[in-house]
Amino acid sequence: MRYYTLRSVIDREANRRQWTISARRKWGLPGAACGKCFAEWATISLNYPSVDLSTLPEQREFVKARQEPWSEYIRLRDLVLSFVPDEALVRPGAGMGPLVGQVRGQPPPIAMDAPWNLFVQPAAVEALSAARLRGIKPVSTALKMAPGVSPLLELELLVAGDYAAECRPMSVGEPCPVCGSQEMTLAPTRWWLDAATLPDADVFRFRPGPSHIIASERFVAVLQELGDTGIQVTELSAPNSGETRSPSGNSAPP
Ligand SMILES: [Zn+2]
Repeated sequence: MRYYTLRSVIDREANRRQWTISARRKWGLPGAACGKCFAEWATISLNYPSVDLSTLPEQREFVKARQEPWSEYIRLRDLVLSFVPDEALVRPGAGMGPLVGQVRGQPPPIAMDAPWNLFVQPAAVEALSAARLRGIKPVSTALKMAPGVSPLLELELLVAGDYAAECRPMSVGEPCPVCGSQEMTLAPTRWWLDAATLPDADVFRFRPGPSHIIASERFVAVLQELGDTGIQVTELSAPNSGETRSPSGNSAPP
C-alpha cells in the first residue's frame, strides 16, 4: 500500500476564488508556557470536532484562545480528558467541538483550507463509504453555507503513525521534567512510514507531526474520482526508491 501526504492547495488564488471559510472552533484548550524550560506550547492541528463540552460546568473556560501557565493547562486538560476520543493526542491548543462560522462560494466535495483541515460534503462521504475506506468519521459543523450549497462536514482524524526507524528524529538531552518538552534532531526532508505503526485507517493525522494528513492510495483514488479538489497529493518516499513520486498536482496512484 502506498501512502501520500495531502496538502492544500495547488493554486491558492484559484481556490480562494472558488470558496473561503471564516470560522472558529467552539471550544479549545489554551496554549501553555512552561516556567521550568520556558517552552511555549500551542498546536493548531489537533482538532476533535466530535467532542461536546456542553455538559461540562467549566465549559466557558474553554472558549477564549489564550496562553496559560503549564499547571493551569494541566488542570484544564484533565477536565476534558474524559470527553475526547480514547486514542486522542491532547496538547495545548487542541481544538474541540464544531467549527462555527461561514463558508462563501462552493467548496469541492473534499476540501482543505489548510494542510491540517479536511472537509467533506455528503457526496464525498457517500463515495468514501462506497469504497469501504477505513477510519472515515465525518462530523457535522456549524458552518453557514451559501444558498443551495451542500453542508460541509469535517473529517475527525485518528492521530497515528510514526517515522520508519531510519528516518526518525533523535532526542537530544533530557526532556523537561515539568512539561516533557524534548529537543529533537530535525526530521529528514525525505521520510517514510514505519509499517508497524500504521493504523486501521485510510486517512489519518501523523502523530509526530500532526499538521501532516496522510492518506492511503485507496483514499487518493477516491479523491481523484471526485475531480479537481485543489488538494496536492505527494507520495511518501519508499525506502531505497530514489526520488519521491508524484511531487505535485492531482496525480493519481498507478
Ligand atoms: Zn518544560
